[in-house]
Amino acid sequence: MAQLDTRQKLAILADAAKYDASCASSGTKKRDSSGGKGIGSTEGMGICHAYAPDGRCISLLKILLTNSCIFDCHYCINRKSSNVRRARFTAREVVDLTLAFYKRNYIEGLFLSSGIIGSSNYTMEQIVEVARSLREDHDFRGYIHLKTIPDADPELIHKAGLYADRVSINVELPTEKGLKRLAPEKDGARIEGAMTGMKAAIADGKDAKARYKSAPSFAPAGQSTQMIVGADDADDGAIIRKASRLYGRFNLRRVYYSAFSPIPDASAVLPLQRPPLMREHRLYQSDWLMRFYGFQPGEVMAATDAAGMLPLDIDPKLAWALKFREHFPVDVNRAPREMLLRVPGLGVKAVDRIVASRRWRRLTLDDVGRLTISVAKIRPFIVAEGWRPTALIDRADLAQRVKPKKEQLELFAA
Ligand code: SF4
Repeated sequence: MAQLDTRQKLAILADAAKYDASCASSGTKKRDSSGGKGIGSTEGMGICHAYAPDGRCISLLKILLTNSCIFDCHYCINRKSSNVRRARFTAREVVDLTLAFYKRNYIEGLFLSSGIIGSSNYTMEQIVEVARSLREDHDFRGYIHLKTIPDADPELIHKAGLYADRVSINVELPTEKGLKRLAPEKDGARIEGAMTGMKAAIADGKDAKARYKSAPSFAPAGQSTQMIVGADDADDGAIIRKASRLYGRFNLRRVYYSAFSPIPDASAVLPLQRPPLMREHRLYQSDWLMRFYGFQPGEVMAATDAAGMLPLDIDPKLAWALKFREHFPVDVNRAPREMLLRVPGLGVKAVDRIVASRRWRRLTLDDVGRLTISVAKIRPFIVAEGWRPTALIDRADLAQRVKPKKEQLELFAA
């Protein structure tokens, strides 16, 4: 490996880390000022944003320890057979960079992942050493998110949880078949075994903390995972099913969905085109329906079409409402909170405000309209004081009437 200075390594290893979905800021237009025109960029690598357990948005230095790897996962730009420029930081270099950026107030924490060098255990030791040194040698109190390597010794994965706020173990692909085909060196059972161990350790850590104030924290921001979307033939129904199983079995804080990006010199088994970014966005929306809106996985899956895909032109809640019209209209002055949460266009905050306000007076369509972006979208689905959508819910052209205008979709288009 040619001698590279820190700046060159940082450019390579921050760029290589962009494929890890640890923050949800994707789907916008590409703009940058590297040609000397304008200020700012929507494409910059190196710093991403995550949410702390208390809801604060925090900036993280997001890098790989190395983009060399002994594995050959087809979808990964860092795979053994990939023709990319390689770089590698020492644990000490990552510690120094993190501290330097932290002291300049550029970041509030570190997101560290890595290709596998030497062996899974050796790589995991290096990752843990970064976090250990930051915490123990430098009393670093910022946020640390570590990606762990499921094949590594469980003892090493456990150590990661002692130093990190959040730990993630990637399931990579929604189906076992996809994993075998595209990442043949990875083992689904080992990945889930590592997640099981992490779940138990997090629960033990919480238990110890509840009993003894002085007990050390263990991954207080929990564990998360990532699924690549569109690299294999898994449909949205399969992805939703897998995500719901992961939340239920491993008590995950987040499942991240990462639309597969075609990579230079891609393997012939991969699709030539990336899936629309809107597909990733719809999967995040379906995830929210399960986590915050009380939808069962089967209900979200019922919003998919005959090919098992969520519609791209409307959000999954609207798709569900259009398919199951018998549940509407919902009376905003009487319906329980869980039914209000099913109304397209009503978010959790709006529903909570409706529930609070209707204790004092009956709400009109205008009152509800003030809580939403599009009153046209909710009109067919609610009853309010002085408003009843006569026959509107049964109209054959209802979908056309409530679909967002095309110009709005361009904001998110790939
Ligand atoms: S193990 Fe990770 S870094 Fe290595 S090729 Fe597979 S996905 Fe890429």
